[in-house]
Amino acid sequence: MTDAHCHVAHGASRHFLCDPCDGPAASCDVRFAGTHPWHLDGFDAVALRKLLAADLHLGVGEIGLDRLRVREISPRMREVFEAQLAIAAEFRRPVVLHGAKCWGEVVKASRQASDVPAFLFHGFSRSEGLLPDIIAINGYISVGPAILNDHAVNYRELVRKIPPDRLLVESDSTAATADATPSAEAVAAKLAAVRGVATDALVAQMEANADAFAAAVR
Ligand SMILES: [Zn+2]
Repeated sequence: MTDAHCHVAHGASRHFLCDPCDGPAASCDVRFAGTHPWHLDGFDAVALRKLLAADLHLGVGEIGLDRLRVREISPRMREVFEAQLAIAAEFRRPVVLHGAKCWGEVVKASRQASDVPAFLFHGFSRSEGLLPDIIAINGYISVGPAILNDHAVNYRELVRKIPPDRLLVESDSTAATADATPSAEAVAAKLAAVRGVATDALVAQMEANADAFAAAVR
């Protein structure tokens, strides 16, 4: 079972770990380095390029745009995102995307980075109309603990429409939240129920999807 987006390894047997990640990582885990739109001050293009050059198995993420914490996307936020997309394209590494409340903008920018081999849309919601564009750029969508909320009717409706070969699950665990965050296994079980399929079959499909995504850095 793969937790397709988290910041610390918690539960699951394989993790796609995005910065800031501390604690142990298993050899099967996949790491990503990048500057989150909430932490723009930390962006250093030279340092990121050095990390990617030194580690052929490193992806880029979590990067993107955000309208959860600010009303408008600042020029600096866009600049940092686009610079990191360009670096990922140059090194041909997969990218983990954040796009809270601005997925259309994130997809638009990502379509320009055609040398990026695969994208993982983490925390994707509310933007069903973008599914064809996401698939066209080899995007995978990781479903998160929001699906466990019985009131998340629209979210459940959306996740039913994601093609099976594009699906992943995530916990988005951080050092601060890991113990209280539902596991990727719990998300997978609920996702199977929501889609009306057997959990085992869904998990097997998602492992194959996770392998395909991870293959971009192997
Ligand atoms: Zn995250």
